[in-house]
Parts: sequence; structure tokens; C-alpha cells
Amino acid sequence: MNRELYGKLIFELSKPGRRGFHIADNHLPQTNALPSELLRQEPLDLPEVDEPTVVRHYTNMSTNNFGVDTGFYPLGSCTMKYNPKINEEMAAHPAFTHLHPDTPASAVQGALKMYHDLQLALSEIGGMAEFTLNPYAGAHGELTGLMVIRAYHDSRNDSARVKVIVPDSAHGTNPASAAVAGLEIVEVKSRPDGTVDVDDLRPLLDETVAAVMMTNPNTLGIFEKNIPEIARLVHEAGALLYYDGANLNPMLGVARPGDMGFDVMHINLHKTFSTPHGGGGPGAGPVGVRAGLEQFLPSPKVVKNADGTYSLVCDDSSLGHVSAHLGNFGVEMRALAYILSLGKENLSKVGPLATLGANYIKESLKDLYLLPIEGVCKHEFVFDGLIDKSTGVTTLDIAKRLLDYGYHAPTIYFPLLFHESLMIEPTETESVDTLDDFIAVMRKIAEEAASDPEMVKTAPHNTPISRPDDTEAALHPVVKYE
Ligand SMILES: *Cc1c(COP(=O)(O)O)cnc(C)c1O
Repeated sequence: MNRELYGKLIFELSKPGRRGFHIADNHLPQTNALPSELLRQEPLDLPEVDEPTVVRHYTNMSTNNFGVDTGFYPLGSCTMKYNPKINEEMAAHPAFTHLHPDTPASAVQGALKMYHDLQLALSEIGGMAEFTLNPYAGAHGELTGLMVIRAYHDSRNDSARVKVIVPDSAHGTNPASAAVAGLEIVEVKSRPDGTVDVDDLRPLLDETVAAVMMTNPNTLGIFEKNIPEIARLVHEAGALLYYDGANLNPMLGVARPGDMGFDVMHINLHKTFSTPHGGGGPGAGPVGVRAGLEQFLPSPKVVKNADGTYSLVCDDSSLGHVSAHLGNFGVEMRALAYILSLGKENLSKVGPLATLGANYIKESLKDLYLLPIEGVCKHEFVFDGLIDKSTGVTTLDIAKRLLDYGYHAPTIYFPLLFHESLMIEPTETESVDTLDDFIAVMRKIAEEAASDPEMVKTAPHNTPISRPDDTEAALHPVVKYE
């Protein structure tokens, strides 16, 4: 559909004089009438629409949205798994939704117990001494974790540590969080097998390094086997090792960052723990620390007393508040519902199933799509576009064509190590039928790229709008009626 017509159908609906309401004259005396100088002289310039038009506008808009409840969403690095509805039911319980955040701790013991239970569960899963649930997102967790690391070095009067080392495969939030925490960024290279090059890392480690941030499995879906050695080198240099937990999913209940030698970590509840990804929120990025760093975690903390009651505590050694109250409480309750409904035994099946699905797709497509790193991947993997580059069909074109078939596009052009990155993560919540359908469509697109490249290059053809200018849309979004 062309853009102008689409805009007319769902945006420009106003007709002069059309009303969605009628207020009857109540014939009451105007005793408390506002002074006339405060009254609006001109009518407010609002769209003039009737009620059915408004309802249809919003309902149509909602059906143009793509979510994990509408279709397969193989977005690499983001773990877009199905969000079980029991999470919603638990979080929507009036015992939680009717709480005021300023209610005294003595009157919200149940809510504090839930918060504390999730803290304990995450500490067990991460192999950490203590967790805070207060940060609002993964990136916010990174910032909080780096602030903990700074507080640790400051407490030892070791203030020359101003650098954070991140791999060249790192997510953009890693260097961004380091910059916001007032630290300098140094990049370490990956080897051809996709793992961090220990020989490149060694000479970078000195008394100016505060932390090394790593993701494991990394953003190529490859398990970093050398973590114990890297942890030894980092600790010998007096720095701390940070775990970006965005890729915790394949390790859930199987391996623990704390056991590998990581000192500080965050978890993205909206990824691994099946809570919704919002448009920038609400999410949650709990931060865990190993023993000896607990005192620096943000305030308030939920502490269990000897008599079994719970208190909110703000310590002097804490780095202070990073969020209002206890973070996104509703998100935390969804994650707790997920953990409790799976239980310990099933939690450890998540990673192997996610890994199986990713390898199944990878092996089923690698004769048509370029696989730069051979071998077993974890929960996700990266293709470098089509093998046949002669048609000029790019990763962007493939991603756009997938929309025509009703799939959300994979992550594209990330990681930055390859020119045509196409990063696929199926997650454990998808059936083999969904994976088979997706594989068939990916094969079909490769065929189309060879037989009719123009058609693929001009995709999508079946969506309400075709190829918006992403940069223009981000810089100058039109979000209101004009
Ligand atoms: C998603 C992601 C982040 C950032 O997490 P948000 O919750 O989106 O802020 C950091 N690192 C990696 C590897 C990620 O995939």
C-alpha cells in the first residue's frame, strides 16, 4: 500500500464538526465558574472523530505491531522467547498491583519476601553472593555493575584504574556504559574462531585497568573456553571481570558465571527470564556480585532478619540509589513466576534446547548462507549473508523479505565483525515445526535471490509500509496527529 493512502486510512481521520461525545446542558447555576480570563478563547485543536473511528484506529494500529505472541521472532542477542501467560497472572495479582511503593516495610512483608526469593534464586543461578534487582535494564545493570567496580577500587585507594577492556564483538551498550561510568574504553581483538584473543589481552592488562567486560557465550554464539585463564590474568592485574548476562540463556542451570571467575554480572530478566521487552522499558537488569563486593550494591537492599521478617536497608558503603524504590517490581514478579513454574530440573533443560534449535537451523542453511565460524554454536549464530554474493542481494534485503512471510527479522549488521551479519536466535520455546517452516522460508528467499533479485531487493511487498528511512524515523519521528 502506498504511504499516502496508508496515512489517510489510519491517521488523517478528522472531519470538521464530527464528535465522539455529547454533553447535555445541565441547567445548573454557574456558581463556581472560572474567571473568564482563565477560559480558553479558541477551541482546542484536537482531531474531530467519532468513537468507532477512534476504536478502529487503535485496533488497526495494534494489529500492525509484531510481537512474540504473533509470530516467530529470531532476534539474535535479544532472546525473544515466549512469555508464559502465568507470569502475567502472577504479576497482575491485586496483592502486588495495589501496593503503594512508599508503604512501610512492615506492611509489605509478602512483597519483600518475593523480592528476596528472586534475589536468592538469581544468586544461585549466577553463582554470586548477592543480587540487587533495582536496575531497570541490561544497560542500566552494566552501569550499576561498573559503579560497584569503581566503588571497590576507590575503597582501596586505587583510583588510577580508569580503563575498561571490551572485546571487538561486544554489544554497543558495553562501551556506552563504561563511558557513562566515566571510564575509558580499550578494545581487545577476537581470534578467527570468534573467541577473545588472550595474547592480545595480556599486554593490555596493567594497573590502569578497572575491569574487563565479557559476554559468554559471546555475541557470535561461541562459548569462551578461556575464561578461567582470562579471570586469572585479570585478577593478577588487580582488575575485576564483568559478565554481561544477556546470553545467560544457554547456561541456565548448567554453568555459572561465578564459578568461572566473574566478579560482577547483570542479568536481563526480559531476555532469559521471559518477561516482556518494552520499547526501551519496562525491563530489569539485576546485578550480582561475588563475596566481598556486597557492601557496594545500590540501596535500598531487602534483608532477611533473624526473626524471619524483611527490612529495607540503606548502607553507608552502598553506591546509593540507581532507581526509584525496588526497580520494576512487576517485571521481577514475572521472572520469579517463570523460575518457580519451571523449577530447578526444567530450568537446566532451557539451554540445551535453545542450543539444539540454533544448531539445527545453522546446519540446515549453511549450504546457502555463509557461515564464517564453523562448529557447534550455543543458543545463536551468525551468517555473513548469502554465499552467492553475485546477485547483490544483501542481509538487509533478506531481512525485509522475511517480513513478507510473516517473520520478524533476525538481528542484522551486528556483530560488527562481518560485513553482512545475520544473527539468528530461535530460543527453546519454539517447536521443531516452527523451525522447519522458518528454514523452508530462508531457503526460498535464497532461491528468489538467484531467480528474481530485484523482487527481493524491493521487499517487503506485503507490509503496510515498505522501507522507511530508519535514520529519518529515529531522528524525526512523527508520533502525533498533525
Ligand atoms: C541486550 C543486550 C544488552 C543490553 O541490554 P538491555 O536490557 O537491552 O539494556 C547488553 N549486551 C548484550 C550482549 C545484549 O544482547
